[in-house]
Formats: sequence, structure tokens, C-alpha cells
Amino acid sequence: MALLTIAKLGNPLLRQVAQAVDPNEIGTQAFQQFIDDMFETMQGAEGIGLAAPQVSRSQQLVVMACPGDNGFPQTVLVNPRIVYYGPHQVENWEGCLSVDGLRGKVARPSMVRVHGLDRHGSPLDFEATDLFAVCIQHELDHLNGKLFLDRMTDLATLTQLDEFDRFWKKEHATVI
Ligand code: ZN
Repeated sequence: MALLTIAKLGNPLLRQVAQAVDPNEIGTQAFQQFIDDMFETMQGAEGIGLAAPQVSRSQQLVVMACPGDNGFPQTVLVNPRIVYYGPHQVENWEGCLSVDGLRGKVARPSMVRVHGLDRHGSPLDFEATDLFAVCIQHELDHLNGKLFLDRMTDLATLTQLDEFDRFWKKEHATVI
């Protein structure tokens, strides 16, 4: 296992559209090791999601995990796409491991249906709601070169972390 370096805001890789993963690559030891390294990196940085472009690999791969009552299970998505967005919006404070020290409010659909492959290359088709749905949308944005900052409709909520802790901490923040 290895901790990977997280690309930060301004790194051009974060603005590229990621390449699809060749399904033949999924079963290789190198790819499986990379998935494990991504989980270790995400957990080491106390995030709940990480996309491959954030560790300077332009491939359509994300890992996510959020323990706890309102969380979701450990999830790997390869070549994912959202095939349906629910009609209701939910607004959350979001942060990002590639955007140090900032939080901002983002409204997103509260439910999505996802197609893709799991870490063994098996097809996935599932619906996610609430925090899981938000995390999926945030991570899939990374695969399309988008950051949560691009999704903010009102930059007035953009907040530095120390001021967030001072004024807004009672509201839950999602650091993805
Ligand atoms: Zn992010």
C-alpha cells in the first residue's frame, strides 16, 4: 500500500476529461493495487471519496466510503455514468481533497441511478440517495474535469475552513 500525492486546484489534470478504463486492465494486480492505494490515500486524508484524476491518473475510476449511520459502504466505480437524476434537490456544504481549506454550498439532485463496473469488472446498476448520491455526483464531476466550485450557484457561501468552523460548523459538511 502507498499514499498517493493528491493533485490540487490549478493542476491541469483536474480539468481534463478522464479516459475510459480498458476492462481487460481491471483484473491486473497493478490496477487492484492502485484501487487499494486510492482507498488508503482517501482515508489518510479523511475524505469520503477520491477520483483517479485527483491522484494524477486520468482514468474513469472512483473510490468512496463513509462509515456510520448516515454513510454508505465501500464502493469502487469503474467507467461510471449517471443514467437518471431524481427530481428533488438537496443542498450540502461540500469540500474537496483537491481544494484545500474551502467549503461551499452546492445543490444537487438527491437521487441518482448509476451504471458502471465494480472493482472486479462486474456490471453495476444501482440507485443512491442523499449523501451517497451527492458523493457520486461530486466524484463523477472529477472524471469530467469539474470541481464543486463550478457547481456553486452562489459564491457568497464560499468559506475558508477556519471561518467555517467558527460560523457554520453546525451544518454538516461533506469533504469529498
Ligand atoms: Zn473532490
